[in-house]
Amino acid sequence: MANGNPLYHDIILEHYEYPRNKGLVEQPDATSRGANAMCGDDLLISLKLDDSACCVEDIAWGGHACAIGEASASMMTEVVKGGDSGAAHRWVKTVRGMVTNRPADVDPSIDLGDVESLEGVKQYPVRIKCALLAWEALEEALSTAERKRTDKGGTIG
Ligand code: ZN
Repeated sequence: MANGNPLYHDIILEHYEYPRNKGLVEQPDATSRGANAMCGDDLLISLKLDDSACCVEDIAWGGHACAIGEASASMMTEVVKGGDSGAAHRWVKTVRGMVTNRPADVDPSIDLGDVESLEGVKQYPVRIKCALLAWEALEEALSTAERKRTDKGGTIG
């Protein structure tokens, strides 16, 4: 057994070493940058919605961050890719609730899986921002993409 620094959980280190969905989505509906000057984290989330704008068809992350920031981005893309955008918004709220100690925001219907390993950051206030960076960028990109689709629908004709 490792002597258990809850911050660097094996799952976090595994995602950091073998990141999922790293890169840039082709012809994204929206991109969003998440930067954390305190740590030097600088991530770029790009996403594409499907034709009906209800699902996250593709999502990727790029840039550089600390182990927590990159692992969190890897996990985020893994859980929201292919899912519906409402679920993606619920994920953001749940993860924020989990790491900022607001259990009322945690959606009990979400199966956290690997993401639960991020919970350890709540004991380290300076790391909370690292863990949330990708999720907050996701929320912003998702809102931008949804707004863009709605505008497009509304202005046609
Ligand atoms: Zn960081």
